Amino acid sequence: MFGQENDVQVLVVGGGIAGLSTALMLGRSLIRCCIVDGGSSYLGDDVSVHNFITNDGLTKSNLLGKGRSDLGKYDTVEYVEDKVVSLEKTALGYKAACAGGRIVTTDKIVFATGIAIRPDQLGITGIQDVFGTSLFTCPYCHGFEFRGKNITVLSSSENDWHFLSLLAGWSRNINFVTDGTPVPASMLEKFATISDGEIFETPVDEIVHTDGMVSEVVLKSGDRLPTDVMFMSELPNSTANDLIDALGIQKVMHPQLKKPVYETDPVGRTRMRDIFIIGDAKTGFSTLVGAAHEGTLAGVMMVNDFVEQRMMCA
Ligand SMILES: Cc1cc2nc3c(=O)[nH]c(=O)nc-3n(C[C@H](O)[C@H](O)[C@H](O)COP(=O)(O)OP(=O)(O)OC[C@H]3O[C@@H](n4cnc5c(N)ncnc54)[C@H](O)[C@@H]3O)c2cc1C
Repeated sequence: MFGQENDVQVLVVGGGIAGLSTALMLGRSLIRCCIVDGGSSYLGDDVSVHNFITNDGLTKSNLLGKGRSDLGKYDTVEYVEDKVVSLEKTALGYKAACAGGRIVTTDKIVFATGIAIRPDQLGITGIQDVFGTSLFTCPYCHGFEFRGKNITVLSSSENDWHFLSLLAGWSRNINFVTDGTPVPASMLEKFATISDGEIFETPVDEIVHTDGMVSEVVLKSGDRLPTDVMFMSELPNSTANDLIDALGIQKVMHPQLKKPVYETDPVGRTRMRDIFIIGDAKTGFSTLVGAAHEGTLAGVMMVNDFVEQRMMCA
């Protein structure tokens, strides 16, 4: 094995903000890395994203395009449009295979693979079409654009009341719809203090929209709710990732998020020292600036690993 080396020192799986930020840190530190991105995004190309200072209001595709162009300056970073489909351990590290046939051998791997969000699992006609365009989960990210507008909130978690109170800061025109589950009397009274809208205890039949922009939420009762934007505090989602699972990395209960997440230290390092998990793949919802931060930190940790390795060999 002496004298042999892997194609790259770090393989970054996923080219969202987390992966791009890691690659930037690595590229500027002269670490050879390859970033492979499968390209699918839950956001429409022309939907703007917010709360990322200096980039507020850019579309996600513009934001990621800017990131890729930043990386273009660094010879040590290669960006590949493909999907990593399998990984295997080798004597020198890991070997990854991409759907397009490309093989990459590497010392370390960073998973920045995001989260799979599946509104379609709710079985509501039209819901997948409006997701990311006029159905959101984060009021901080998308409340401002719909201030004063008609908001329909679909009940989705025990967090509903806090969520409604939060949204009331942007508009009092909020209708709240449950799947038929009765709303507790205490909440019925409080609702009138934050909203001029109504509560409906009837499942949704259909979401009427034009090019992803909702106009009406139609209930099974026949009620039609004029709607400019929909919010849900939770949508069916999963951070489960076959590649990570195949490496034997376990999930643990996150004390604050109260859901299982892959076990890592605060900077995303797993028990397998050379494997990191960052961004939404780790937290479920990092935000853009949070994902950038996580990517940068993981990059620093890996650079330090390589420095230590160099010192040991010196
Ligand atoms: C509807 C919606 C709107 C949002 N709006 C905002 C906002 O306005 N502001 C904000 O701060 N946050 C917002 N967020 C949250 C923010 O988008 C995420 O927290 C952030 O994008 C996480 O970045 P990431 O790099 O971890 O994952 P992602 O951006 O999801 O990137 C993961 C990438 O990995 C790729 N990938 C996955 N598996 C593989 C594989 N096997 N091989 C190759 N590539 C792979 C995917 O194709 C994807 O490109 C929003 C989230 C949603 C759902």
